[in-house]
Amino acid sequence: MELALNYRDYTASNLSELVKIKSSSLGEKEVAKKLVEQMKTARFDEVTIDGLGNVIGRIGRGRRIIAFDGHIDTVEVGNAANWSFDPFCGDIRDGYVYGRGAADQKGGVASMVTAGRILKELGFDRDFTIYFVGSVMEEDCDGLCWKYIIEEDGIRPERVVSTEPTDGGLYRGQRGRMEIEVEFKGVSSHGSAPERGKNAIYMASRACLAVEQLNKRLPLDDFLGKGSVTLSQFVSGSPSLCAVADYARIHLDRRLTWGETKESAVKEIESLVKDEDAKVFVLNYEEAAYTGKRYGMEKYYPTWKWPEDCAAVQTGVRAYQALFGKPPRIGKWTFSTNAVTISGVYGIPAVGFGPGQEAMAHAPDEKTPVEDLVNAAAFYAMYAWTA
Ligand SMILES: [Zn+2]
Repeated sequence: MELALNYRDYTASNLSELVKIKSSSLGEKEVAKKLVEQMKTARFDEVTIDGLGNVIGRIGRGRRIIAFDGHIDTVEVGNAANWSFDPFCGDIRDGYVYGRGAADQKGGVASMVTAGRILKELGFDRDFTIYFVGSVMEEDCDGLCWKYIIEEDGIRPERVVSTEPTDGGLYRGQRGRMEIEVEFKGVSSHGSAPERGKNAIYMASRACLAVEQLNKRLPLDDFLGKGSVTLSQFVSGSPSLCAVADYARIHLDRRLTWGETKESAVKEIESLVKDEDAKVFVLNYEEAAYTGKRYGMEKYYPTWKWPEDCAAVQTGVRAYQALFGKPPRIGKWTFSTNAVTISGVYGIPAVGFGPGQEAMAHAPDEKTPVEDLVNAAAFYAMYAWTA
């Protein structure tokens, strides 16, 4: 804690440097270079960039492996008129660091660099290998970077701490999500004689109203909350504006609570459209990383949660208690994180602790309190020490 306080300005200025470099998903090259430089300055034992472009800093060479993860990509600025300052200013004033990514989530990245520096300075000598990962493409396809790290880099930690913003809380789960589309095939006819055709817009519209009803009866989990579904896009096609539409497609944003899976969610939609000429499918993601590497996965991001009494959470509770003299608020994220693959796919325990507010993520006038950066840096170092 004392070192984290000493490094208060250092952490804030590292974050400021990261914020000043625009790094939308797939465009993380420059910020990755900067992070490599920061980790080297912090005297990490080794810093590499993998094939997908993830920055991987290592401290120690022990038998047990734990990792800290912070994604280095951000979403776009959005409507610039909604910002009261330059989104890439990286200003440090009034106890905050300002700019796109300050909260989501370059703050967590800056804090973990400081944590590494603290561990080195204190001569961390436990039987651990600790990876500090600046991951890519999270905003485009959460978890893909960790699929790559586990399957291609061959790094499989026993647990992972996500540094996404938690507003001072210790998080242990989130709802999963998936992107589903339904395509409807109609038959066109002249608009003057609709009875000869089969209107795909009517078919899709019936499905949309059924989805609205479905949302009301989705299951509830005491900790994670309710599953949900909403329509986010409706596209239709027709040979002319004087014709019956022969094509329609709807896009569903589905959030999955505990017990819901890809299979169960697809089945529900299939049963809603069973009387129509319709096809339900889960979309795939496949884009080229800034390194040129093409890598993808299905857009299914499984639900995950870990019990309060599991070792990964309990280490966090102990570390927090030791630093701040009180138990942490234990909670969950509303949004999605890389733990969808880490925990949801690979079953590796994950917990979250990160500077900044979740509500600041993707919002205009994004900022993070410097005090949060200090606390997070101390927490990550303490977590490694008490794991
Ligand atoms: Zn994020």
